[in-house]
Amino acid sequence: MKRVLVCPVCGSTDVELDTAGITGKFYCKNCGYVGSFIIEMDESEYEKLKEAGELERFLEKKKANVPEEEKKPEKYPYENP
Ligand SMILES: [Zn+2]
Repeated sequence: MKRVLVCPVCGSTDVELDTAGITGKFYCKNCGYVGSFIIEMDESEYEKLKEAGELERFLEKKKANVPEEEKKPEKYPYENP
């Protein structure tokens, strides 16, 4: 089963590890979000949510369980060490 990374801000799967995984953060190529909080799920699950129009609600629910600090997008986390 293929796993996909989903951006918690815009719901895009165009997400990759930021700076080749060195920072442990994720980068969304769609909206520019950078942060340690990302949603991982099965591709089929993602497609199902999207088709049902439930993706947004699903993301909201996921975000509700995350501490404020983690949710904050970190544009350039490596700028100030
Ligand atoms: Zn995004």
